[in-house]
Amino acid sequence: MLLDSRESAGSGEKGSAGNKGLVFNIQRYSIHDGPGIRSTVFFKGCPLRCKWCSNPESLNNFAELMVRETRCNGCGRCIKVCAPGALSLAASGLRLDRVKCDLCLKCIEACWEDVLELAGRQMTVDEVIEECSKDELFYRNSGGGVTLSGGEPLLQADFALQLLSSLKELGFNTALDTCGHVPWETLEKALAYTDLVLFDVKHIDSEEHRDGTGTDNKLILSNLEKVMAANMARIWIRVPVIPGYNDSDRYMQELSGRLQGMKAEKVSLLGYHEWGRAKYQSLGRAYQLNGRTPLTEERLSGIIGIFKAKGLNATAGY
Ligand code: SF4
Ligand code: SF4
Repeated sequence: MLLDSRESAGSGEKGSAGNKGLVFNIQRYSIHDGPGIRSTVFFKGCPLRCKWCSNPESLNNFAELMVRETRCNGCGRCIKVCAPGALSLAASGLRLDRVKCDLCLKCIEACWEDVLELAGRQMTVDEVIEECSKDELFYRNSGGGVTLSGGEPLLQADFALQLLSSLKELGFNTALDTCGHVPWETLEKALAYTDLVLFDVKHIDSEEHRDGTGTDNKLILSNLEKVMAANMARIWIRVPVIPGYNDSDRYMQELSGRLQGMKAEKVSLLGYHEWGRAKYQSLGRAYQLNGRTPLTEERLSGIIGIFKAKGLNATAGY
């Protein structure tokens, strides 16, 4: 479900403050973020900047407008209600000056074509639980539950921990999708209320990791080992497979060798795609991975074979 921005409190919303957190989507009937049918709560804010990220609206820890220019019919209704003069029509379409915009959201109400959308809304723990509870029957019948994803949920640590503990108290199955670049103390606290950790491993070489994500991998790899040693939750490792970055046989041999001794239940190999490309444009940002071709099924099967040869339970996709 995409949150109704017209209900939002509006301007300048920043990340977590205890019982409230900044969420940009609650996706119901998700089957890609853990077992069974789930609701995935997408947190805003991430410490990494992966070049292939398909959720660019998750990166910043503040609310922002998305503009789907191709839907705009040029009627100008939004421009008339925009007091700061942040909107204008150019030959190429609607233009948004993000410096002038104060997120009053009047343009969203004025537009009949669903061009403008707010990414990010402050929600309380109770509001998130109320939304997730609508599908409780589906969770129970399918072995599903609620997954915290993002962005990085643990960047809004207080909110994420309160949400996880409340969900557990209510008997929900919980999953945490983490990039691992968070303080161990926070991750350890979260494990107490988490049934399944979806732990992302982008690259095991430090320089390559920095090149692809903007950040060193030292903390991530250290946390991965600690999560394994803690033995408090099921663990699925997720590996985005990016052409020309981490898809060589040689690297996959190295990675699978590194994961071989660990207690992960599953290694999910997520093939590169460009589904998020249009969102970059709607946020006024450039897509960074031009000229990459998604992997063929045969290629992904070959990579899975490398992991299976080492006794790992590897799958394509989730
Ligand atoms: S939210 Fe819309 S109407 Fe309000 S300042 Fe920004 S662009 Fe203008
Ligand atoms: S109101 Fe909607 S359709 Fe009309 S100019 Fe603004 S964005 Fe385009």
